[in-house]
Amino acid sequence: MPATPAPPAAGISGAGATAPATHWAPDFGALRRQDPELAGVLLAELDRQTTTLQLIAGENFTSRAVLAALGSPLANKYAEGYPGHRHHAGCELVDLAERLAIERAAELFGAAHVNVQPYSGSSAVLAAYAALLVPGDTILAMALPHGGHLTHGSEANFSGRWFDIVGYGVDRHTGLIDYDAVRVLAREHRPKAIICGSIAYPRHIDYAAFREIADDIDAYLIADAAHTLGLVAGGAAPSPVPYADVVCATTHKTLRGPRGGIVLCGAELAQRIDRAVFPFSQGGPHMHSIAAKAAAFAEAATPEFAAYTHQVTENARALAEALAAEGLRVCTGGTDTHLITADVSPFGVTGLQARGRCAAAGIVVDKYTLPYDDEPCSTGSGIRIGTAAVTSQGMGTAEMPQVAALIGRALHEERGLAPLVAELVGGFPPYPTPT
Ligand SMILES: *Cc1c(COP(=O)(O)O)cnc(C)c1O
Repeated sequence: MPATPAPPAAGISGAGATAPATHWAPDFGALRRQDPELAGVLLAELDRQTTTLQLIAGENFTSRAVLAALGSPLANKYAEGYPGHRHHAGCELVDLAERLAIERAAELFGAAHVNVQPYSGSSAVLAAYAALLVPGDTILAMALPHGGHLTHGSEANFSGRWFDIVGYGVDRHTGLIDYDAVRVLAREHRPKAIICGSIAYPRHIDYAAFREIADDIDAYLIADAAHTLGLVAGGAAPSPVPYADVVCATTHKTLRGPRGGIVLCGAELAQRIDRAVFPFSQGGPHMHSIAAKAAAFAEAATPEFAAYTHQVTENARALAEALAAEGLRVCTGGTDTHLITADVSPFGVTGLQARGRCAAAGIVVDKYTLPYDDEPCSTGSGIRIGTAAVTSQGMGTAEMPQVAALIGRALHEERGLAPLVAELVGGFPPYPTPT
């Protein structure tokens, strides 16, 4: 690894033409003076995030350090290519940032090769497909109505348009992936790749079982760990890295980093993955985002983060139990992860109505169409929630019964709950004023 050079000379901080920059602060005051209308929107969103209950499964609160990297002048830099091989001049310093991100992620996940350039989780999946497949190939993926992501075969997405998708599902009674059924489908359709990973499956995935099924038919195994990569980093979920040919994920869900994607693979696929990201499917990398990913990977390697991920899953278990006591039907009877899906039909409402009632109380949840749901996709019978964000705020198992009770009362359409919700979350500011 190259030595860190002296900070560059910079005039933009106002320190003068030759003095090196020693400080950078994203200047919110500048935005407020120049564009009060937009500044008002940003502040109102901060208020919304800090006065209502954030239970969207894929959301989290990044650290101030991550936000600082996102708001840095690295946003200005064009750096098409990879460290040491860029198409633009002046990349020496952003090269260091990208190398840090790569080395930290490789160490954190025990991966031989890492690409930190994908703009999002979807771009990471696209890169995995582009590296391993050609249009017309068959992919065996979790069916969307059972928890597959848009990139796992939606007709409205490149995946469904360009590939032959065969869908597997969960057992109607247990809600668990039926690995025997997956094996039967694999033998019948002989897909070139199998993808495992879900937007909603609350249980750990048996990556060894998927590997065996893939090996049996000589298929690639792609793990889409978009939701769980943070739990993997902290040791609260099993790692797909030893089993999958390619692991793709987001960096902004349980990993608590900036919005973005990542791809991990073995050395033998390194070049194909890199070319599939750039130049095949992307242009210039977002260097401010990559720097923020580097910051997040460093945070994720700490004992504090490991403890955080275990708290996330403990909170989810406690919340699932409390929601069941409130009368919701929790899918698979609980959770291993941060994710909970639950049937709200015992309350005489659809998922869409449940989302609305919760929203009226300041509780932000997603509607969810359950596997084998009788309701149409637009309404669904369920809700989907996650505990990553509330745990980042500092909530623990003691708060989960309160959260469940508030959800139960909201589903019963009780009025006047918003102040109670605001009082609860007010005790756990995600961005406490620095002292
Ligand atoms: C969130 C998610 C994605 C996509 O991530 P984006 O950053 O929204 O593009 C892909 N796959 C799975 C399983 C996800 O949960």
